[in-house]
Amino acid sequence: MAIYDIVIKGGTIIDGLRTPRYRADVAIKDGRIVQIGSVAAADGAEVVDAVGKIVAPGVVDIHTHYDSQLFWDPWCTMSGWHGVTSVVIGNCGFGFAPCKVEDQDRAMLSVSRNEAVPLKTMRAGMPWDWVTYPEFLDSVDRTPKGVNVMSLAPLAPLYGYVVGVDKAKEQRASDEELDQMCQLLVEAMEVGACGWSSQISGDLYNVQRDYDGTPMVTDEMTEREIVAFSRALRTVGRGSTQITGALETAALIARESGRPIVWNALAPTGSVNQHGESRFPHLETIARLDELNQQEGLRVFASAQIVRFKSEIVLEDYNLMDIFPAWKEACLGTLEEKVAKLSDPARRPGLKEAIDALGGGFGAARYPLDEITVNWISSDAPNAQELKERYEGFTIAEIAARENKHLLDAMLDIAVAGLLQVGFGTTMIEMDPQAVKEVGTCAVALPGISDGGAHTKFVTTARFATELLGYWVREHEIMSLEDAHWRLSAYPAMAVGLKDRGSLTEGSPADVIVYDPDRVDALEQERRFDYPAGEWRLVQRATGYERTIVNGVTTFIQGDCTAATPGKLLRHGAAH
Ligand SMILES: [Zn+2]
Repeated sequence: MAIYDIVIKGGTIIDGLRTPRYRADVAIKDGRIVQIGSVAAADGAEVVDAVGKIVAPGVVDIHTHYDSQLFWDPWCTMSGWHGVTSVVIGNCGFGFAPCKVEDQDRAMLSVSRNEAVPLKTMRAGMPWDWVTYPEFLDSVDRTPKGVNVMSLAPLAPLYGYVVGVDKAKEQRASDEELDQMCQLLVEAMEVGACGWSSQISGDLYNVQRDYDGTPMVTDEMTEREIVAFSRALRTVGRGSTQITGALETAALIARESGRPIVWNALAPTGSVNQHGESRFPHLETIARLDELNQQEGLRVFASAQIVRFKSEIVLEDYNLMDIFPAWKEACLGTLEEKVAKLSDPARRPGLKEAIDALGGGFGAARYPLDEITVNWISSDAPNAQELKERYEGFTIAEIAARENKHLLDAMLDIAVAGLLQVGFGTTMIEMDPQAVKEVGTCAVALPGISDGGAHTKFVTTARFATELLGYWVREHEIMSLEDAHWRLSAYPAMAVGLKDRGSLTEGSPADVIVYDPDRVDALEQERRFDYPAGEWRLVQRATGYERTIVNGVTTFIQGDCTAATPGKLLRHGAAH
């Protein structure tokens, strides 16, 4: 008669607490780790052979945008494929609650632009069985989940609900309105939000805009508003904040709230990400982080960018050229309007100027335009067969030479012919290992910026845990595996107040991964037609993960989903 539900035999334990690795068995029963030591195989209803494998806590991914996807994809892939067992949603101030019924489409329009989730997918895939934030959390609670979910209270929906999104942009909230928003924030915290989030990025250098190209309502938050929300969190006395914006704004919030903050983002100098080139010397930023934490005594954590960028540019939903007015204008509106603007010869010089300003690169990440390859042209395009034969597999440089055109004209002419449903594959932008080491091992660095569930047609950064374990640790030894698992699990869990998760400890919930440290790796980018309303997304799966266990139940075996949904809504402040 088995005593335990699962026994993981003979693996090397890395517990997420920076304890030096050791070999032991792990026994799991009723969702918890009940013993780490020597356990007989016969005592397990199921035995996992982990000889030669690492047994580690599941990854805690604190920067995701699965606020819509979790309703149609319980495992929140790509995260679920990459060892993640808990996600935090509601980042950057973007989300869907509270939201009046008549504003639902407006809320989805915002997210279709700032996080580039296809609009028709959200319309088809979201249940919208809530108005208030507490009702939203109840909806998440009853939705089957393959990962644990904790949620921030994003600020943009609060402005939408209390003031009205467009009105709030014309005139900042009154004292009464601000008061009301703070009360709703406290109400959200009372039912389990883990804090609040906001994008405070201003107008310049902002690629996460509203659907009409204007900054998001939170982008222009004043100090008065920032302080009010921070003090509201102080009165609650728990939780944390997350912002995408200036480090000094994060420091102000930490000071006023007395709570931890996760600041986005610390990136190696000169590196690129979906928001553009890192404009700040990372060593200076790290020195300032040390000052804020060690001297001033604040708790300012930094989301650290460690993922190399490679993308597929699809102009149908593209927003990562939005720092250039010419591009922002051309990529706004309906599909028909975008096609008309991108084919307009009068607009081309302005679009080319932006490419020149990027040194011949494209997108915030400056992918070399000449090396971009036509990966895919939708079969729905007019004359699809002919277009595919003529262009698929060729680089823009080859096509431009063949057709005697400017590189950008070559690219845009194909995009327009394919009604913007053309995938332009970029090269990988490599990063300097020394710089990644400095950033990744900074005292308050939380490696990640997954952005899971966002920018779904062109960004695959949700593979970050695999990139850290398989590329930066194994191939470049930027940190020990003990350090890596602490930074992937226990440390972020602590930063966001995810109690009792993130480590392998007797008595704690059994969120466990078993993987092969010699093989763990991300697979190539691929297009998957698995989004509601017939939409597709760009993803990367993983290899080397033997097993993923959430709350004591196996969700993935060698990359294959078991269809189990043991994930829970983790309400902040409550026991789980
Ligand atoms: Zn974000």
